[in-house]
Amino acid sequence: MAEKFFVTTALPYANGPFHIGHIMEYIQADIWVRFQRMQGHQVHFVGADDAHGAPIMLKAEAEGISPQQLVARIAAGRPRYLQGFHIGFDHWHSTDSPENVALSQDIYRRLKAAGLIYSKPVEQFYDPVKGMFLADRYIKGECPNCHSKDQYGDACEVCSTVYAPTDLIEPYSVLTGARPVLKTSDHLFFRLSDPKCIDFLDGWTTAPGRLQPQVANKAREWLSGKDDQALGDWDISRDAPYFGIPIPDAPGKYFYVWLDAPIGYLASLQSYFASGKARANGEPRSFEEFLAAPDTKQIHFIGKDIIYFHTLFWPAMLRFAGPPYKVPDNVYVHGFITVSGEKMSKSRGTGISPLRYLDIGMSPEWLRYYIAAKLNANVEDLDFNPEDFVARVNSDLVGKYVNIASRAANFITRHFDGALAYAGDVEALRGQAAELARQVGESYEAREFGRAMREIMAYADRINQDFDARQPWVLAKDPAKRAELQDICSRTLYGFKLLSVLLAPVLPEVGARVARELYGLERAFGWPDALELPQRVNAYRHLMTRVDPKQLDALFEAESPAAAATAAAAPAAPARAAGSAAKAGAAAAAPATISIDEFKRLDLRVARIVAAEHVTGADKLLKLTLDLGTGTRTVFAGIKSAYDPAALTGRLTIMVANLAPRKMKFGVSEGMVLAASDESGGPYLLSPDSGAAPGMRVS
Ligand SMILES: [Zn+2]
Repeated sequence: MAEKFFVTTALPYANGPFHIGHIMEYIQADIWVRFQRMQGHQVHFVGADDAHGAPIMLKAEAEGISPQQLVARIAAGRPRYLQGFHIGFDHWHSTDSPENVALSQDIYRRLKAAGLIYSKPVEQFYDPVKGMFLADRYIKGECPNCHSKDQYGDACEVCSTVYAPTDLIEPYSVLTGARPVLKTSDHLFFRLSDPKCIDFLDGWTTAPGRLQPQVANKAREWLSGKDDQALGDWDISRDAPYFGIPIPDAPGKYFYVWLDAPIGYLASLQSYFASGKARANGEPRSFEEFLAAPDTKQIHFIGKDIIYFHTLFWPAMLRFAGPPYKVPDNVYVHGFITVSGEKMSKSRGTGISPLRYLDIGMSPEWLRYYIAAKLNANVEDLDFNPEDFVARVNSDLVGKYVNIASRAANFITRHFDGALAYAGDVEALRGQAAELARQVGESYEAREFGRAMREIMAYADRINQDFDARQPWVLAKDPAKRAELQDICSRTLYGFKLLSVLLAPVLPEVGARVARELYGLERAFGWPDALELPQRVNAYRHLMTRVDPKQLDALFEAESPAAAATAAAAPAAPARAAGSAAKAGAAAAAPATISIDEFKRLDLRVARIVAAEHVTGADKLLKLTLDLGTGTRTVFAGIKSAYDPAALTGRLTIMVANLAPRKMKFGVSEGMVLAASDESGGPYLLSPDSGAAPGMRVS
């Protein structure tokens, strides 16, 4: 039976262009959406810019334009990325829209009527020059613990102490330099701690299949207050000046951006319905009817840094606002994307610029395939490794997949004028195909895209082996073997069609070309095409080139600092601070717990850096020679941005001694040194206390 899906990705914050983390999330969701459509399901896939909040207000002010102008400029740049990577949103909207104002105010009024909104005075730092309350990140001062200067209002970057902005010594406003004063204002709160909210969330977060196990566990911890942060109520108001949606009956108060951001999903859907596109996409009902229908499945793809908002506040808001609003059916969470093992960071400016990727002529389908091959259904980070990228694209996509078609189709065109004919038992062939299509379909459905790609490539290997085993180039020389030649080439070209159907969610452009050019279909592939044996093929036309490793060099060439700052940012999610909830969200980024036995599998050793040197041509790496007591190891470490090699020689650090050796562009790396970092800085290499000697085991 055809299902009806409403699918979203997290809304990107409209203060800058997309970074590679956004593109990864959109590719993940787009693959899943295309798969569902190929199954015959109805999918409405919408996105929007997250436009409100102080960062956008202040950035616009600094540029001398209105926030609306800033948001419009950013929005104008979006289609280039989305079209460039074949990301097929049905509609793109903005949270700064009439729909979102009406929906946010409606939901708020309903929550208020349900007794879940209350007002409470809050004392907060205020910039008397700017005339504005200051969020923690707009306050700096001296750390009360280690006395480092210029530390942010929530935590010290030097000693990592967490504190309140009022604990800072000599605090000042980042905006004006003025000394902030404490001022009280009434704030509105959403009563998340209400027993009816807790009861509801207890059930919602534990419904089978709703959340990934890691995500459900994290939500359970927050709900039970185990994270030593009892479930608090949520401050949903901000005082003017603020770029946001006015709160009804509360002059001078605006919704905190995180209240109206997820409502933007619904605003985009409503605008999409109003545009007539939903009707064109097979949905005759109104927005309200569609949203409220029990058979509508509401699904959000998000990054791991915003779990808190999407598994607690968002479902609770929707539940207690009541129909036509309904709670999400699934929230699918992914990890971050790293590059050669390094988390991207604004300060270091590493990363992949999506536009540069397109501008230097790299195929969007290479990236789609690579990301698919590395994604699974867990909340795990995905590493973009340039050597691995080249190897997978060239050996899998070109070597195994595309080459099958060119090899077999040329025989059919030359000797049989395009006609296919199968000898012997085709039911066995169909049976294999049906089994593969079923397995791959299950993998896509479960977002186990890496598994789907492995299943597809294993079958591609088999087709290539069968083709080679029957030596069609020998058969072609013997007129008596004509039928046999036609049979093996026909089977191979059926196999290629099968693979093309199964890969179409990942390679939509190649899939469409194969359907049209090779098999003469007037439409794109649907899943049932996997079981249809073709009877003819047209002449093969070149489908895909290999990656030239030089393109990767061009992709990673040092960018100007300004370009790097906009291109690279870590989380695949809105880059705005979110108060205490964001801290809780960041805690969710921690991996699941492991057993002591799992930990013991790591061979951590004290090592002495006996030599450290620059590597010619490497932007980020230093080559380290490490003495482990029993011998030396060579390790390439991505710490060049933070360390002068001369300063490293002779010092002790900690290494992972049993990491499998990895062949890198500049040589083999035989382990890894440990260092700490986050968006705000690093890497900081670890050191043992004095007395430790090379080779000692760390446990
Ligand atoms: Zn400190």
